[in-house]
Amino acid sequence: GYQQDEISVPDYTETELITDAFNKMLARMKVLDESRSEFVSNVSHELKTPMTSMKVLADSLVGQQGVPEDLYQEFMRDITAEIDRENRIITDLLTLVKMDKKNADLQIQHMSINQLLEDILKRLRPIADKRNIDLILDSFRPVEADVDELKFTSAISNLVENAIKYNVDDGWVRVSLDADHKFFYVTVADSGMGIPEDSLSRIFERFYRVDKSHSREIGGTGLGLAITRSTIGMHHGVIKVFSKEGEGTTFSVRVPLSYIP
Ligand code: ADP
Repeated sequence: GYQQDEISVPDYTETELITDAFNKMLARMKVLDESRSEFVSNVSHELKTPMTSMKVLADSLVGQQGVPEDLYQEFMRDITAEIDRENRIITDLLTLVKMDKKNADLQIQHMSINQLLEDILKRLRPIADKRNIDLILDSFRPVEADVDELKFTSAISNLVENAIKYNVDDGWVRVSLDADHKFFYVTVADSGMGIPEDSLSRIFERFYRVDKSHSREIGGTGLGLAITRSTIGMHHGVIKVFSKEGEGTTFSVRVPLSYIP
């Protein structure tokens, strides 16, 4: 009668809630599974490409009598370049996989971010000089913060390396540092080719490259920004990108001054 109805209402709702939660979980698992297979197939493809080139190059030398010395040298140089590329992809992949583990432990140190940025620019200046790109550091104030020196350095280095790689000859790259009472802010701005609007939301994805062949030519693996975003996230920071095609790109990073695990 009346009392039973009253009881059966919450019962029914609960079943519904559980079914709903279960369906949501299944859907989420399906998405995870799909992105995992996509990742595995991307990895296989990326690892196979240099391998295929090496095989073709080596095959054309094997069993050939009297290959002219300069041709032989050229093929060997190409093979070496493909090995270097394979190595870069594997190194980047291992870095990413290590980060995916939940407690990828950070070696947090309280340190000068001004110094950290100066060191990065010092290391990359010879590469920028080769294309007469002006590399500028704007430190608005002394900043000390908690970071993992190696990981944070490589995250920011990726941004500066990209700003040089995807720049025009005689262009500029401006790295700036500022802070307030809670956060510090690093921006890396360049005068480069920019990123098309419809690619902007995808550049942090693993293996995503705006121009596959161009990026490959200049040695890109498509994993750099995925690593950078993951590292910034581990520091509880955020990274954003602004870009205009043909004018340039700005990456802005915001990280808390103190690290709370
Ligand atoms: P890659 O190893 O190809 O450089 P990243 O993950 O570092 O891979 O970057 C992904 C893609 O985003 C690049 O291939 C490039 O197309 C684009 N990109 C990254 N940084 C810049 C930049 N500063 N200017 C223009 N395009 C950029």
